[in-house]
This record gives sequence, structure tokens and C-alpha cells, in this order.
Amino acid sequence: MIIIWGWRAIRKVLGSGRFFCPQCGGDTDYKHLALRRWFTIFFIPIIPLKDLGTCVECSRCRTAFTERVLDVTTLEVFAHHQGLANRAVVAHLVSLSPPVDDTTVGEGLLALASAPGVRDGYDGEALSADVSFFADPGAVAAYLRPIAAEMTIEGREEFLRRMIVLVARLPHAGPSAGLAIEHVAAALAVSPAHLAGIRQHVQSGAPAAGGDL
Ligand SMILES: [Zn+2]
Repeated sequence: MIIIWGWRAIRKVLGSGRFFCPQCGGDTDYKHLALRRWFTIFFIPIIPLKDLGTCVECSRCRTAFTERVLDVTTLEVFAHHQGLANRAVVAHLVSLSPPVDDTTVGEGLLALASAPGVRDGYDGEALSADVSFFADPGAVAAYLRPIAAEMTIEGREEFLRRMIVLVARLPHAGPSAGLAIEHVAAALAVSPAHLAGIRQHVQSGAPAAGGDL
């Protein structure tokens, strides 16, 4: 009788989820795999051999990555964080420009209409609730931190431009609102000189050059 023997790598699925695949350039499903070579007889694994380590495999393009790829925020989560950061800063600026009434809330909603990641149905009631919560600058900073490192320069400029336009439109915005924008710029690692340039750009009425990110 002929015995067919050999070896092959067996994949064990450790887990799965959604991740940002650098190869596909978007969010997709992944499998977290552990690989081990086995000695086989008649193609049946009999003896475990070398441990081949672990990898993260994209379910769409099948590219294998190291686990570090899971450290990258998915586009979905990034959009969510951006939406929260926009809501936080808009609500904070409205809180600094009392009274909080239909006019100021309306201006806040107008600013958020062009912001990425703000859920559909976000309305005046939701913004008024946010105004109470984000009156505290510490609460605002906590929502800027997650996006600061991952935003593009154009995204930061667009974010600040949105807030500068809002402050210009709020009827009772005082110096504290301008100062708050400086704190936001600092949290986004935008220098005072760069912020001054963005302000100048807004005041000149030039159209925005960047996209949403
Ligand atoms: Zn992929």
C-alpha cells in the first residue's frame, strides 16, 4: 500500500472583524489567523510542526498583514470621531455666544450641515443638549484628541474654516469664541501662524480648497 504523506499549513481563525485594508484602500472584513505547518498522511494532519505565526487577512483582496494593521482606525470609526469633534466644537462655540436661541442653534446646525460624520436627523434639540455638555472645554478636548493625529492638513484647515465662519455668523460671539478656536487649532497641531492664514483666507471670502477630510 502506498502511503501519501506530506505537510501543509493549517489556518486557525482566532477572530474576525472590520478593518481598514491598506491594499483595498477602504473598510472591509478581516480574519485574524494563526498558521501552523502539520505533517499529513493521506492529507490528514497528524503531527503539528512549525508555528508559522499569526496574520490578519483581508477577506476581499486576501492580502496578509501583521497585526499592526488593526491599529489603523477604520473609515467608519474615523467619520464617527470627526462627527463628534465637529459637534463638540460647534456646541462649545454656541455656548460661548449666548443666548442659546433659535438663531444661534440655527447657525450651529448650518455649520454642521457641511461637517463629515454627523448623523442624519441631528437637529436643534440634539444641538441644544450638546451645548450644555460641551460648554466645558475639557469635554471638547477629549473629542478632538482621537482625530487630531489622523486628520490630513486639508481636513484640519477645513475643520477650522468651518468654525471661523460659524463664529463670524454668531450674533453675540465675543473674544472668548475666538480664543476657543485658538485652543482647537492647538489641539489639532495647527500653529498660530497657520491659523492666522486660515482666518485671512476666510475673511477674504475665498472658497474652500480642501475636501471633507
Ligand atoms: Zn484588502
